[in-house]
Amino acid sequence: MSAATATATRHELLAEGLSAPVELVELSGGEGPQTLALLGGVHGDEPEGVLAVRAVLRRLERLPLAGRVLAVPVASPTAWAAGARTSPLDGGNLARAFPGDGAGGETARVARLLHDRVIAPSTFLVDLHSAGADYEMPLFAGAIADDSDCGRASAAAARAFGAPRVWLHPHVNPGRTITAAAALGIPSVYVETGGGGNLRAADLDCYVDGVLRVMARLGMVDAEQAGVAAPPPPALTIADGSGDIDAGVRAPLDGWCATRVAVGDVVAAGEEIAELLDRDGRLHEVVRAARPGMVAMLRRRAAIAAGDLVCVLAPEPVA
Ligand SMILES: [Zn+2]
Repeated sequence: MSAATATATRHELLAEGLSAPVELVELSGGEGPQTLALLGGVHGDEPEGVLAVRAVLRRLERLPLAGRVLAVPVASPTAWAAGARTSPLDGGNLARAFPGDGAGGETARVARLLHDRVIAPSTFLVDLHSAGADYEMPLFAGAIADDSDCGRASAAAARAFGAPRVWLHPHVNPGRTITAAAALGIPSVYVETGGGGNLRAADLDCYVDGVLRVMARLGMVDAEQAGVAAPPPPALTIADGSGDIDAGVRAPLDGWCATRVAVGDVVAAGEEIAELLDRDGRLHEVVRAARPGMVAMLRRRAAIAAGDLVCVLAPEPVA
């Protein structure tokens, strides 16, 4: 293995029937067995990942690199252009569309393109998300940590990322990038943070340093040269649950959501999470924790419509 200053090649990936090309930046360093697939912007209202991928690429310009990086700053160009979670062309959620379908709609075609050209040729995947415009999430690194070599490598990388919380899933639902990677035997990590329409510099720093820490762990960069010290162990680990945010509590009416807790809080069974108010502010329902757990996602925008997600509770942390 030999590290060398990387050469960058920009590609515009296109497939039949796609309305917009997907930007891929390929960095080729010295010889090495690893190819890192790095994705941002799978959801179009999550600027953290998009900006962090571009920041990682700038950091790597000056660093000796062993192996290859396949970086896609904006995985869903049509959702990003609309500033929306899903593509306005077909309403598709790219994080539920993998491994994709080259004969499907816009979102299915993008998934297939990313699956074939970015994920399948890689040896490790990092997918950078955040809570999006209407929600808030605590900063954490997550992984499918099943009892396989792939699962063990994913869990170790999630711990090495340097996020204050780690969420290890025994399984996750189909359609996600990390599920598609696992089906190919490729280990992966995804990360989440704040969202809520604002951008925290410390979160961006954690994302960029975390990607470099994973790369150092894979032997692609030198941790000291990259300026990433070994992080403290995560303060909190969750070792159960699928992390599926579609499985959260939803509002039964149009009105207002008044939250009682903060994301990252660990709550007891029965503890109040939010009050759902009707349009005139009268209490309609108190949302309580059905079991002990960590508040993994919380409505940030006050106005709610029937069917909107109010909160997602992760299982109780193990440490
Ligand atoms: Zn996302």
